[in-house]
Amino acid sequence: MAGRAPLFNPSAEALTALYAALLARYGRQPWWPAETPFEVVVGAVLTQNAAWTNVEKAIARLRSRDLLSLDAVLAAEHDALADAIRPSGYFNVKARRLRSVCAFLDDAGGMQRFARRDLATQRSGLLAVHGIGPETADDILLYALDRPVFVIDVYTRRLLQRYRLARGDEPYEVLRAGFEAALAADVDLYQQFHALIVVHAKAACRKTPLCPTCVLAPACPGGR
Ligand code: SF4
Repeated sequence: MAGRAPLFNPSAEALTALYAALLARYGRQPWWPAETPFEVVVGAVLTQNAAWTNVEKAIARLRSRDLLSLDAVLAAEHDALADAIRPSGYFNVKARRLRSVCAFLDDAGGMQRFARRDLATQRSGLLAVHGIGPETADDILLYALDRPVFVIDVYTRRLLQRYRLARGDEPYEVLRAGFEAALAADVDLYQQFHALIVVHAKAACRKTPLCPTCVLAPACPGGR
């Protein structure tokens, strides 16, 4: 790994300019789409390896079957829970993960009590739950609990790599720390920035990028 130190030290100016350009192009995003913090938790688990449209179908099925609460998930039979979330794929695995994170939150005294813990305790606790990785944990922290953690996903990596701000293959924590070091700990900024990156990745910076019409093209070294 000589010569490939996993560093990500973006300037505040670079990230702020990127955010401003995305915000000007796409506007404020209504994200995360959920009626309750618990629904964000459910969505964060179900969106693993799934398109959001299929997550929405699974959440609608949970709601229609009265399974969209912490107590209901814990009381449900595995097969009933797995069947309800079938549209999101990997439903047996996700049913177990959903029960695990619900059991953890229940042990913590429920969502409201868990929300009062300090961020480091919340994050380490979530990361200790089977099947909850850093992206899922940070989705929950940022969007369900309004905690200032920057979410890194595949779209973020792609944009950073093409924008030449990072290699794109740095460890999750390196990228998260880089954003958080450069930007103020502003929950609304983090929520909007991540949502805008996702929107941009779907609208323009796709696997095959649509550079000629991209708002970032004039400043993007990776553009075509
Ligand atoms: S110019 Fe192309 S590579 Fe750069 S951000 Fe836009 S779509 Fe992505």
